[in-house]
Amino acid sequence: MKAIVVREHGGPEVLRIEELPEPAAGPGEVVVHVTHVGLNHLDVWVRRGVPGHDFHLPRVPGSDVAGTVDGRPVVLHPSWGCGSCAACLAGRQNRCRHFRIRGESADGGCAERVVVPAWQVLPVPPGMPLSDAAALPLALLTAWHMLVARARLQRGERVLVQAGASGVGVYAIQVARTFGCEVHATASTPAKRARIEALGATAWPYDAVGVRDVDVVVESVGKDTWASSVRALRWGGRLVCCGATSGAEVPLGLRTLFFKQLDVLGSTMGTSSDMLAAWACVHAGDILPVVDEVGSMRELGAAQARLEAREVVGKVIVAQDLPHG
Ligand SMILES: [Zn+2]
Repeated sequence: MKAIVVREHGGPEVLRIEELPEPAAGPGEVVVHVTHVGLNHLDVWVRRGVPGHDFHLPRVPGSDVAGTVDGRPVVLHPSWGCGSCAACLAGRQNRCRHFRIRGESADGGCAERVVVPAWQVLPVPPGMPLSDAAALPLALLTAWHMLVARARLQRGERVLVQAGASGVGVYAIQVARTFGCEVHATASTPAKRARIEALGATAWPYDAVGVRDVDVVVESVGKDTWASSVRALRWGGRLVCCGATSGAEVPLGLRTLFFKQLDVLGSTMGTSSDMLAAWACVHAGDILPVVDEVGSMRELGAAQARLEAREVVGKVIVAQDLPHG
């Protein structure tokens, strides 16, 4: 079967279509016929490389996989733990030292077929196109874990989502809305701000955030937004961070930290039970997929370029069109 393989880090030219052995399902496993893959910034890091991090290439990219198992529409859990350590047995798979993310520390979905343990399959709600379903798992899981597990969001709180049009941002807005929260979000252009207002947030330009006394700030931008995030927090507020797309070194004034009694929380992906809880909200219609564009898997590099240029609202999807044979 055909798959996209990254054998060395670099530009779009390192995304090569190769012939790989047909995967075979063992006991407890299923074959997923991949129809769509949702893109994440993680795909760009896997392709470009990150100084000091070993991705153990070669790697098939693609964390968010939608497809069919015996004709049934499914998406896949994007991550899992070893299953037997103390963290995993406590249900905290994302604290497992052997935590795996599909397409990052295990081969991903940019292939004609993938084999996965049957428990990693999630049913797609009736009527939802697979191109929409592929927009959900990783970013939704990340947003859910940040707000619900780490920040312990309470009903009616005031939330600021930095980069509200990003993949994590569009779901963080919706998760907070399901908790009845007052949601504010930042975005760079009027068009993006209109899209996130439609999701139920009050939208602000990055350089003119007009909300104060925020209970929880959702951070994924890092360097460029950190100061405005800290400024927006109320005394006793929580800042939860899952990324650093603009830079990872930020000033943290310790007097502000202790006088304002802030909680600064780190968050990575989420647990399997977070995924199930978030997926129940998808089935209930409380959280909707946000798709910017559906492109071609053969043109994965072009789709990644749109993500890298920060032109998108929500998720970029690529549809299965790898050449057969
Ligand atoms: Zn484990």
